[in-house]
Amino acid sequence: MSKILKANPIVESSSEELKKKAESLLSRGVTPRLDVILVGSNPASMTYVRNKKKRAEGLGAICNIHHLDEQISTEEFLAKVNSIQADPAVHGCFVQLPLPKQLDQINTHQLIRADKDVDGFHPLNACSAFSGEELNQHLIACTPSGIIDMLDFYDYDLTGKKVVVIGRSMIVGRPVAMLCLARNATVTICHSRTKDLREETKQADIIISAIGKANFLDKSFLNNQKNQVVIDVGINLDENGKLVGDLKAEDMQEYAGAYSPVPGGVGPMTINSLMKNLFKAAEKLNELGN
Ligand code: NDP
Repeated sequence: MSKILKANPIVESSSEELKKKAESLLSRGVTPRLDVILVGSNPASMTYVRNKKKRAEGLGAICNIHHLDEQISTEEFLAKVNSIQADPAVHGCFVQLPLPKQLDQINTHQLIRADKDVDGFHPLNACSAFSGEELNQHLIACTPSGIIDMLDFYDYDLTGKKVVVIGRSMIVGRPVAMLCLARNATVTICHSRTKDLREETKQADIIISAIGKANFLDKSFLNNQKNQVVIDVGINLDENGKLVGDLKAEDMQEYAGAYSPVPGGVGPMTINSLMKNLFKAAEKLNELGN
């Protein structure tokens, strides 16, 4: 029977730390404030935003949601985003993706200034994740840093380990590969053109799957002699409309050493990282007197 790497105990211990930080900030007259920009009424986006607000408020932060019209023009949208992030009371800010079609031309990775970019997408923050330098000083992308927190919590030392990341997006695959590299893992990044994905995954000590295909990774990708750790980033609906990851859970139970569940794994870790980034930004902006 393999170990299930649940997010719950990590989120609980992190919440205790963040509540203490909130008290310490409050004693200096600062209440961490997160502003969220939501355009339109995509049901999944609305759920994500509600969950983030609930978590932020539970930690003693303020969370304002700016719900903008689905048809908003690029000019109006940019003006609104800029006025929100210019407000000195705002410590962290992000735009809930996806945006509607008419806003396609906007480079969302450069929209929020680096010191308030709690998503960790801004090039200055991405550069820190890619170089592995000053990681503590910057706001690191939430899903990748949440995965590292999960591996840390469950005591997986990455030094010398072979990590196979499936997926090469700028928000998950590439940055998580770089964070693993910074932890001295030997990293292989796979994608849809990888010749023999099974050959790669079978050699891995740790597999991180960020594909976005329900139940894609089954036992045929695993090597049950290696006690492999498999992290599931995917968020998918299966043919019955049930929320599932990239992994076929029943195969993981039999063939993996440990795996992260969906729901209850990387998803909550991502929100946890968002909160850590908010408190980091609030501390830093307060130190700088902004
Ligand atoms: P992208 O669609 O940007 O990237 C998917 C990657 O998977 C691509 O690099 C693609 O390769 C690769 N891929 C697709 N099919 C295959 C295949 N058959 N074999 C090998 N590689 C394949 O997605 P994201 O990185 O944005 O997200 C990935 C998943 O993670 C999604 O399900 C998303 O919803 C979820 N997600 C979850 C988060 C969380 O908080 N839990 C946060 C962010 C994302 P190629 O580049 O060649 O096309």
